[in-house]
Amino acid sequence: MTSARTRDRLVARLKERGITDPRVLERIRSVPRHLFVDEALASRAYEDTALPIGLGQTISQPYVVARMTEALVAEPLPEKVLEIGTGCGYQTAVLAGIVSQVYSIERLAPLLRRARPLMGSLDLYNVHLRHGDGFKGWNKHAPYGGILVTAAPEEVPPVLLEQLGEGGRLIVPVGPRGRQELMEITRTGDTFERRSLGLVSFVPLLGGTA
Ligand code: SAH
Repeated sequence: MTSARTRDRLVARLKERGITDPRVLERIRSVPRHLFVDEALASRAYEDTALPIGLGQTISQPYVVARMTEALVAEPLPEKVLEIGTGCGYQTAVLAGIVSQVYSIERLAPLLRRARPLMGSLDLYNVHLRHGDGFKGWNKHAPYGGILVTAAPEEVPPVLLEQLGEGGRLIVPVGPRGRQELMEITRTGDTFERRSLGLVSFVPLLGGTA
């Protein structure tokens, strides 16, 4: 169920759906997604679908992870990336094999407790996890070449725009539940150019921690 052939099938499907970046496809092939879900769901880990990870949260669909990663790591490759919404850490692990430093924030402590040991066991020492409210970003390590938000705010949090470096890109699903648009926002000086990457479905970005 978690064999090389099963993973190859997932990669083939993502290619069919338009993912072309070889670095992204290689990460999808090599990151063991079955370790990020409950054992009972491991047999479904290489299906192109979102799965529950507890506390009402989900591990994103591989296609969406690939699409967002591809947009984020396009030229120029960001060196330092901030992720909001670590969840189980799957997207974090995909990113960590492509960029040099990944900072990731999660508001639910129990999810972070599960994600943390996984990073070590996958030898991803360039990942920095933090329990906090992503609406505030992570100012200490700003500016970031890229920021990826994996839960949907109703509007783009201004702080995240502030923490974006020159030429940096913010990838964020924006809008109410069931009607979200994936946005790519690029910073040039104090100008922020927005481009839509299509419709998506994410859990909401919520304020505060728990
Ligand atoms: N990146 C994950 C997706 C997790 S789902 C993956 O690879 O599959 C989105 C996550 O965002 C949830 O774990 C949720 O708890 C978290 N989240 C929601 N609002 C947040 C906030 N304000 N700050 C940090 N994390 C938040």
